[in-house]
Amino acid sequence: MPHDEAQAIQDLLSSYAGLFGFFEAEGEELVIVGGAVRDLIAAAALPAKLDVDFATSALPDKTIDILKKNKLRFFTTGIRFGTISTIHGEKTLELTTYRPDESYTPGSRKPEVSFGTSLEADLIRRDLSINAMALRSDGSIVDLFGGREAIAARRLEVPGGGLERTRIILRDDPLRILRIARFAARLDYRATDETTTAATECAPWLQTISHERWKAELDKLLVAPHPAAGLRWLQQTGALREVLPEALPLLESDGFDRWCEALQQLPTEPHHLRWAWLLLGAAMAGAEAGDATTWPEASVRQQTVALLADRLKWSNEERQVVSELVALPHSTAQLAALPELELRRWIARTEPRVADQCALLVALTQIGGEGAALAPFLARVEALSGDATPVPQLPLGFGKVLMTELGLQPGPAVGQAVEAVKQAIVDGLLPNRGEAHDYLAWLRNRAETDA
Ligand code: ATP
Ligand code: MG
Repeated sequence: MPHDEAQAIQDLLSSYAGLFGFFEAEGEELVIVGGAVRDLIAAAALPAKLDVDFATSALPDKTIDILKKNKLRFFTTGIRFGTISTIHGEKTLELTTYRPDESYTPGSRKPEVSFGTSLEADLIRRDLSINAMALRSDGSIVDLFGGREAIAARRLEVPGGGLERTRIILRDDPLRILRIARFAARLDYRATDETTTAATECAPWLQTISHERWKAELDKLLVAPHPAAGLRWLQQTGALREVLPEALPLLESDGFDRWCEALQQLPTEPHHLRWAWLLLGAAMAGAEAGDATTWPEASVRQQTVALLADRLKWSNEERQVVSELVALPHSTAQLAALPELELRRWIARTEPRVADQCALLVALTQIGGEGAALAPFLARVEALSGDATPVPQLPLGFGKVLMTELGLQPGPAVGQAVEAVKQAIVDGLLPNRGEAHDYLAWLRNRAETDA
């Protein structure tokens, strides 16, 4: 065992010495499982906020008793699946009662949840051999299904392997197909041929699971370091057609690899940027495949976003942000020619996402090899952003003041007047966060000039 692995194990265990002690004092087994053990052995950088998963022989009620007795806070949101969570510094720890392996009995009605007492059975029911190892409090690693070997060979396979077993595991919870793609994207490991064959057969079953679960895995895939590897495997197995058919034109286009290289340069926070990038790529590839010389209209791109947002149950915020991002003007010539007033309006409309839009624009020009052409535009945006082009803020209750002072009835006229003031602020004609009476005077004056 290389020295630094031993050290990493000791570091990890020492953070949780107290917790291990509490369970052992009650005669229960507690082990660390899942991602933390995998990343430790793979010597992958452990994210500082990585959640740590534990498995235990204690039944959920007993886990609660142990946590209570030792004055630890706990949450029972996952109790249906045998999971009790507790907080440890910045991390959430999930303590899950051993579950038996039920996947050998396809077709039989599964109990809602049942608990087991064997660590071995708990490990074999896991999705991948690399995720099916456990770390005991004495520092020993339980590796019954070749997890360490799979890490060394950078191989993705289910615990136990074999085509028949893989079929059962993937059929039993088809989300595992997306998880495999997510780990391919995260670690740049390859699925074995048996895994790919079984995933190809089982891909249609993805339709039987909740779309929220799809979304959680796809979000993680897109922010991983090797998204191309994950997406390609999903395409190869037919799973992409099930969950994200919008991306197919991009994967089938010659530009896919370049598109993914640029994707990897984009910030991972917020993850919306990566969704927007994928959809822009798909729109462009779709247009090229159809022999179009221009992209689909922004409104068409936004319709794609709406479809996807419905399917993946995006929040309103995600829907709105990605929709704004894909609507950006994409031609450098078009951007360079924007008059100052137009640019100010674009900035005001787009804040607080001007920086994200610019990140997408830079990525786009890298693809098109016209990076230099964008520099003057970005400099102008920078000069006009922030205080130079404020997001208009009107006094509280300005609408009411408008109605009393200008004798307006509630209705569109009030909204139009408010919009006119905001526009004047953006255009630099009125100060931001000004006094109501100055804005009223400007509106009155405008009405007189118009009349
Ligand atoms: P991450 O580093 O992203 O947290 P992880 O491997 O810890 O990766 P989790 O989703 O946190 O992934 O799940 C913890 C563990 O639970 C996994 O390592 C795996 O052993 C098991 N697991 C999670 N989801 C499934 C599933 N759908 N089927 C089988 N096992 C699963
Ligand atoms: Mg985890």
